[in-house]
Amino acid sequence: MLKTKYLLDLYHDLVVQNKGEKEFHQAVLEMFQTLDPVIHSYPEIITNNIIPELLKPERIIEVEIDWVNEKGENEQHLAYRIQYSSTLGVYKGGLRYSPNVSISIFKFLAFEQTFKNALTTLPMGGGKGGANFNPRGRSAKDIKLFTEAFITALAPYLGADTDVPAGDIGVGQREVMLMVEKYSELKDDAYGAFTGKLPDKGGILGRKEATGHGLVYFVEEALAVIKKTTLNNKKVVVSGSGNVALYAAFKAREKGATVVAMSDSDGYVYNPEGLDLDIIKEIKETKRERIRSYLDYDKAAIYENDAVAIWGVKCDIALPCATQNELDETGVAALIKNGVIFVAEGANMPTTKTGVELLRDNKILFAPGKAANAGGVYVSGLEMIQHQKQVKYTFTEVDAKLQSTMKAIFQNSYQTAKTHNRPNDLLFGANLSSFLLVAEKMLEIRKKHTG
Ligand code: GLU
Repeated sequence: MLKTKYLLDLYHDLVVQNKGEKEFHQAVLEMFQTLDPVIHSYPEIITNNIIPELLKPERIIEVEIDWVNEKGENEQHLAYRIQYSSTLGVYKGGLRYSPNVSISIFKFLAFEQTFKNALTTLPMGGGKGGANFNPRGRSAKDIKLFTEAFITALAPYLGADTDVPAGDIGVGQREVMLMVEKYSELKDDAYGAFTGKLPDKGGILGRKEATGHGLVYFVEEALAVIKKTTLNNKKVVVSGSGNVALYAAFKAREKGATVVAMSDSDGYVYNPEGLDLDIIKEIKETKRERIRSYLDYDKAAIYENDAVAIWGVKCDIALPCATQNELDETGVAALIKNGVIFVAEGANMPTTKTGVELLRDNKILFAPGKAANAGGVYVSGLEMIQHQKQVKYTFTEVDAKLQSTMKAIFQNSYQTAKTHNRPNDLLFGANLSSFLLVAEKMLEIRKKHTG
């Protein structure tokens, strides 16, 4: 637990004031564990009450949506937007459609987003939102009807110079374009109010691929610097099969790795010789089917009806790219037993607290999501710049910027850890450097206002 009484008291208050919000507690505690040994070196942050302020979102929006589905039935869902921090810029972060959301999940995601966005060094604050709507099994018509009601509810709070959402789980380009369309009926500058748009409709080339590609660029750099090796001939397990997972898998393959397993929320597919990623893409992106149908195309593959059992597959590198808390200590123990050398998070907080501790105790290299998956929101930031300046970047330009940014984020985390005598502790490095980016800016603003 925490040794610093100051942080321990703040953590206890947080738990009392945000009762039962266990994901939010988890994200804050993870940050506090990094701050624990160093916070007294930053007395101004303590005396100016920066941390208590950082534990409260600036604004929480929760709206009930009543809408009528294609059958003419009334349905109710809840829409959320957490405008967490505007210290570094407009609120920025995705929207998630999932039945498994709650205020706790959105708060943790918005908290993480605030620090992740800081690491990109682009002027973006942190936000997150979505709805407890399950898009699975819904017709395109229902997705459209729901999205229209959803964006009507949130539109008053959004805009190019206030809050700019993008996609997340359950929200891809198709949904973002529906949002843009509806928003444009209600307010001006719809293209400026969202990122993740289709490239020929105000979007940026490479946004869809950015989180997954960026993750692999980060992994490549970490392997080169810390392990003196490359991705070539490495066996990789990627959980999930959405945008992040899919493009991480493609990029890992391009770098010479073999992707042996991927999953969806029902189960995972495995082929020790490597999966045919084009088929996975076709199944998930075009046909929108479950991953088990991969077996129809690859006779050598096996399917197991248990998504988290994917961590039992032998690999060198594990990339959890599905969702929060999908990799617990049982999964980590299995990975370690099978000789994993690196776990890098493509999803947001996919590794549980005890999972992270087990990795640390066994000295397994670990890259936290706020650093390793920042490529997506970084390219979203480029999409905003593209819109502001009315320019168009080529795919090659975006890719080059993404590569150098992921290297810089790695270096920032790596050097921060090194300076604090925590060699190779990328969790510590990413947490501390991102925290200081936000906290020091808050101090600067405070000083300006108080003269
Ligand atoms: N949802 C993504 C994330 O977790 C991207 C957000 C964005 O592009 O605004 O970082």
